[in-house]
Amino acid sequence: MIINLPTYDDFEKVSKECLIQAFNLLFKVYDNYEEYDDDIVRGEVPMDDVWEYNSGTLRTSTILLHQGIETYMKGIVAKTSPFLLLEQKRSDWPTLPDSIDKDYDTLFTIAGENLLNTFCAVCTDITPTTELVTFIEKVRQKRNKAIHGASKISSSAKALIHDILQAYTYFFGIDKWFDDLKNYNYENPLFGYFDWEFENLMSYKYLDFLKSTIGIKKFKNYISYDVTARSYFCPSCKNEIDDKYGNLQSKWAFLKPNSPDSTNVYCVNCQHENTVERKDCVHEECLGNVIDEEGVCLTCYEYQEE
Ligand SMILES: [Zn+2]
Ligand SMILES: [Zn+2]
Repeated sequence: MIINLPTYDDFEKVSKECLIQAFNLLFKVYDNYEEYDDDIVRGEVPMDDVWEYNSGTLRTSTILLHQGIETYMKGIVAKTSPFLLLEQKRSDWPTLPDSIDKDYDTLFTIAGENLLNTFCAVCTDITPTTELVTFIEKVRQKRNKAIHGASKISSSAKALIHDILQAYTYFFGIDKWFDDLKNYNYENPLFGYFDWEFENLMSYKYLDFLKSTIGIKKFKNYISYDVTARSYFCPSCKNEIDDKYGNLQSKWAFLKPNSPDSTNVYCVNCQHENTVERKDCVHEECLGNVIDEEGVCLTCYEYQEE
């Protein structure tokens, strides 16, 4: 018999790991650059030079993205039957009574076109549209170029980030990449030893990363909240981060609903809501009119002294 048959859940776990790693590799390049909080360095070293230097990282990320996609497709096929993934002739399968057991992992499985066609034949979880098939084929070609080691990597960091988020959103739904990235960090056995709440809120850096690389308009495709609306400081995030170790500059809170008389802000990062008062900020140079319960303007973060 063929033993230790894999399940969809096994494949899904590995697929997500590949996509998260593909994302994190790129994020770390950006995050490392961000640590140089120095105008001279920023002026002399554009981010594009840093990406070019890290072409090996882009290559690895492309390979991981492709692996994540193939693994997801295998998982979907395994839902029908993991036997559909086997490359061997059926007459060679060790399945007859008295045949010697073989571990599934020792057998060859299908890839490339065979996998794609089988995936499309059995997939009911999502619709294998022409758009999806074209996307998968595009990633396969980029991965081939990455593997064949042509001196110039064909995919820019920006295009690669799009592709990773697009794959995650196609397969697992909108927002899932962000939830899973946060969970991935949370499950790190080292998580929380510095400061649990502070570390938890550091996910804002992923949002900053995407705003800075792919731009807020494109970013909107991968998150269910309208992040193109006017943004405000989140009092929960800013108080926590500033009180402890830093000076949060990012604004990821939005009026909910997004209307002139709205008295609520929702933070995409910590997912908390805060009640706000709508009145003009007392500071002349600030055009804000969203004041939190402590009397702080969520545009300039100044107290509203009488
Ligand atoms: Zn927040
Ligand atoms: Zn203000």
